[in-house]
Amino acid sequence: MGRMSQDTIFAKIARREIPAQIVYQDEDVTAFRDVAPAAPVHILVVPNKIIRSLDEAEPGDERLLGKMLLTAQKIAREQGIAKDGYRLVINTNADGGQTVFHLHVHILGGQRLGRMA
Ligand code: AMP
Repeated sequence: MGRMSQDTIFAKIARREIPAQIVYQDEDVTAFRDVAPAAPVHILVVPNKIIRSLDEAEPGDERLLGKMLLTAQKIAREQGIAKDGYRLVINTNADGGQTVFHLHVHILGGQRLGRMA
């Protein structure tokens, strides 16, 4: 799952080397609660393999990217926020506000969210 020099905090969470509240994991993706939630439900979905940002994803990652979205859909339903609604966010590189350089989809819900776009 990547050389040590390329390691990320989210890869360590996926390998269960550092603690996190994991809500879902399979051979492709891991989902866990954000440590600093910005909404009542705030969960991150990450690929187990390291992709540093959406900008670094490649055509070969097409299936994995689709899986991340369908995993977010499944988790939103399980968390009981699907009907009222939720937001998915992928911050990308500096202007996008990305702080952890391991691709992740934020699932935000559980309250009415302010308009951003
Ligand atoms: P971004 O700004 O899109 O890169 O989002 C990074 C997110 O990761 C932030 O919402 C952080 O609160 C969250 N985060 C950072 N470290 C951890 C961690 N160890 N466990 C869970 N969430 C984390």
